[in-house]
Amino acid sequence: MRIIVLLVAVVLGMAPPAAPAAEPSLRGVPLAQRHAPENYGAKPRSFGVDTDAAGRLYVANIDGVLRFDGHEWRLLTLPGGMPARGVARGPDGRMYVASFDHFGVLPATEDDSLAYEDLRPAFGLEGDAARVGLVWQVRAASDGVWFRADRELFFYAMDPARHRRIPLPPEARSIYLAEDVLYLRVEGIGVMRVRDGALEPLPGAAAFSRQPLSAVIARPQGLLLVGYEGFFQAGADGIRHLPGEADRLFAESPPFSAQLLTDGSLAVGTLRGEIQRYDAALRLIKRFPTGSFAIEAMTLDREGGLWAATEGDLLRLRLPAPWSQFGAQHGLRGVINDSEWHEGALWLASTRGIGRLRPVPDGQPLAEWFDWTDFEGYALQSTPAGLLIAHRSGIYALEGADRPRELLDGQEDAVFRLVPSRHDPGLVYAVGSERIWLLRLAGGRWSLAAQWDNPGANASRLIETAPGEFWTDNARGGPHRFRVDPASGELRERREFGAADGLVPDPDAGVQLYVLDERLHAVSGERGHVLAGERFVPDGGDLLSRVERPGELEVVPTPHGDFAWTSRKLLLRPPGRSDWESVRFDDGARRGFVGVRLGSDGVLRVSTWTALLQYQPGEPVLPAAPLQVSFAAVELHTDDGAVRPLPVRTASPVTVPAGALLHLRFAVVTMAPDIEFRYRVPGMTRDWSPWSGERQLGIRVRPGDWRLEVEARARDGRPIAAAQYAFHGEPRWHETLWVRGFGALATLGLLLLLTQGLAFLRTRRFRRANLRLEQRIAERTRELEEANRKLAELAVEDPLTGVANRRALEQGLLREWHRCLSLQRPLAVLMIDVDHFKRYNDEHGHLEGDAMLRRVAERLRAAHDPVGELLARYGGEEFALLLPGVHLADAQHRAEALRRRFDQPDCPVTVSIGVAAQVPGPQDEPHALLRRADAALYRAKRNGRNRVEVAND
Ligand code: GH3
Ligand code: MG
Ligand code: MG
Repeated sequence: MRIIVLLVAVVLGMAPPAAPAAEPSLRGVPLAQRHAPENYGAKPRSFGVDTDAAGRLYVANIDGVLRFDGHEWRLLTLPGGMPARGVARGPDGRMYVASFDHFGVLPATEDDSLAYEDLRPAFGLEGDAARVGLVWQVRAASDGVWFRADRELFFYAMDPARHRRIPLPPEARSIYLAEDVLYLRVEGIGVMRVRDGALEPLPGAAAFSRQPLSAVIARPQGLLLVGYEGFFQAGADGIRHLPGEADRLFAESPPFSAQLLTDGSLAVGTLRGEIQRYDAALRLIKRFPTGSFAIEAMTLDREGGLWAATEGDLLRLRLPAPWSQFGAQHGLRGVINDSEWHEGALWLASTRGIGRLRPVPDGQPLAEWFDWTDFEGYALQSTPAGLLIAHRSGIYALEGADRPRELLDGQEDAVFRLVPSRHDPGLVYAVGSERIWLLRLAGGRWSLAAQWDNPGANASRLIETAPGEFWTDNARGGPHRFRVDPASGELRERREFGAADGLVPDPDAGVQLYVLDERLHAVSGERGHVLAGERFVPDGGDLLSRVERPGELEVVPTPHGDFAWTSRKLLLRPPGRSDWESVRFDDGARRGFVGVRLGSDGVLRVSTWTALLQYQPGEPVLPAAPLQVSFAAVELHTDDGAVRPLPVRTASPVTVPAGALLHLRFAVVTMAPDIEFRYRVPGMTRDWSPWSGERQLGIRVRPGDWRLEVEARARDGRPIAAAQYAFHGEPRWHETLWVRGFGALATLGLLLLLTQGLAFLRTRRFRRANLRLEQRIAERTRELEEANRKLAELAVEDPLTGVANRRALEQGLLREWHRCLSLQRPLAVLMIDVDHFKRYNDEHGHLEGDAMLRRVAERLRAAHDPVGELLARYGGEEFALLLPGVHLADAQHRAEALRRRFDQPDCPVTVSIGVAAQVPGPQDEPHALLRRADAALYRAKRNGRNRVEVAND
């Protein structure tokens, strides 16, 4: 494939990719989701984990059994408030639980509630004999389940005739199951197995007579024993030590649990909270800390996630995965705008300056930061003559010395991008907001060779199409083509392309450029174009339809395929394919993509709002598990205040009394959330509800047969099967009578009408009355439909303006606050109030005022991103805009741009805006943020209106 890429490159006269896809010298940690006790609502001590067939996670916790469907945690308290010491999915699909003085199973329930059934009676245990003490572990075989109590092993067989008990010596330790054989270590003897109902030592058992045994794993290569002294292999001829790095690493950090991963590699969790990953030949791939707690148990979920139960948190790690990450634990600061490999280190241009990560053998790197600039770093380019660094006030060249040399300084203008020429390795273009600079390599040093004004607004991209020819985009109009003489710096042509060239610039967004398949593409608003000769022609490519903000689209070709991204989405078109797929990160938190970059080491890196992700060629992408909407709980609330659980799965419609409230909660069991739902009840609601993260719904039951349909979609595009819940609304007796009575009356009325109709058939009065009647009936029907629909949608919409209402804002605020709190990202809020609206009302009347409010809402709506941001009517003529992940400075810019949208000749009203933003802290109060924005708004009013003010602390 590489040869083809190279051939294509040569044919097109461009430079080949910087370097072949390389094994990175630095490796980050796996993408991880961390669930802390405050998330799962139980004490921080867990001993075991397993999943059920639906993919839900069960955790044996000191407070009982936890169940997690990817969204919601539930806790089952065990009899006597005893801890759960272990949990395992039995061959019958039920979850078996080890506890204290008892052990049991979670029976299937119709309403999916958690229940517990003691299994001691199956063994005839009663009275004192039933005090089995601590049940340390539970392991599931193909024909039954093993429980290890203090002095005895219990085998709960699927065939009740085969239940079994085996006494244990006091020196017995933990049990393990591999290929349906039960193993355990007995201090002083070593590893034993259960055979024909008795314990028997393995050949060479004594290797473990003193050495603790942490896991027994069946692998194609043989039975692997994980001990404190290293890896061992057990066979008919004895137990053999497999010498390797583990011998030393286990001595530093003793193994405590182990799990075979989907690619045949092995994860070992240690007492010190470290995970060591070994390849199939038991060579160390990577070790990384997960925290300071011992890793008690691990399991894989059906989506390939590795769960680790620790003494503190519950962790879900994506391992193996093609992506690893660097984040706060590596000392990363701010948002990483760009990264570049240069002279054995990974350099970082961040909103908090310039730093670098250097590989540490066997461990994780920690970033160093330099005092060269207090401001944002924007772009980096490695060259043989040094590292070029673009930042907020100029360009540096780092040429091997301790401090970089200033190439360009004292600029008003920031330098956002560095674009190496594809035709001349001695040229680099630098893009500022108003100027383009040309850097030239001469005599082994970079220097400033030329500069040109760029009349386009906010140009962020420069695309070189031929030697001395490049394009820049323009936020206010059409793109500019520059033709220059690189040798003399002379500007030969600068032309703005517009309507005459087949490209109508979007007045609000201008035109953005990207290159795909060696062709220049231009996006104007939602419309795509491609350059054909001297003209742009429409292009409705597949790529444009896959993203929500086409203007943000950028594409970078790599040896792994073409990557395309916007701030919301990352897409990959693998080599040789024509379709694009969403890149899945699976930790639910990947929202803001800042940049995608193939480093000079040939390694692909993606910076996001929260981390720097790195692509690891050769690591498998796990197949997506089939996802499906399910009902997590269904309840019937009747008028007398009673609440009755209903089955969550039914073969035939559930009969419920009309007039009662049917309350349903839906779910998609997935550990990679970010799911939205919508629903409808054909005949009851007019259409699908809007997509939302809301997972519950109340339906006032009406007589008749109904079917609730729920659809779900995942942000990353994984398919999800829809679900239905059929129910029959049983009319109450008075309703039935009433309906009958109404029917009789209606028939009578019809007869009456007919007779009357005959009499007055041609009178105008009749016709008018008839018309009015019809209108009223139509109106009434519409009202009813509307009322039903509104009821079903739980009213989150403001009826006048159609934007979210105050209630939705409250919900959104809490949701985004907690998300930003956990990600440690800022949350910004804009309070927007129409100026002198009372006066407008007084002059034009209240109805015209209403219409104006709708237009204001429309203008605001057009300027926000409905996916990631929340626009709501706060009350009266005041609106709020919630901007997750946006810093104060950016929020201020957004506010200013919004304000300008109103301050136009065609708009009769202006607005004042108050801005506040903060990174939520655990002690902070979300509403305080609103209050601060409101205070800033008040200041904006006091300072003369039609202006933006920012909250100060
Ligand atoms: P300021 O620039 O200080 O905000 O002045 P203002 O007149 O806009 O502010 P004030 O809060 O004194 O008045 C708000 C007015 O907005 C009063 C009310 O008549 C009007 N208003 C509030 N809600 C609605 C609505 O739903 N429809 C209409 N037509 N007017 C509304
Ligand atoms: Mg006002
Ligand atoms: Mg007001």
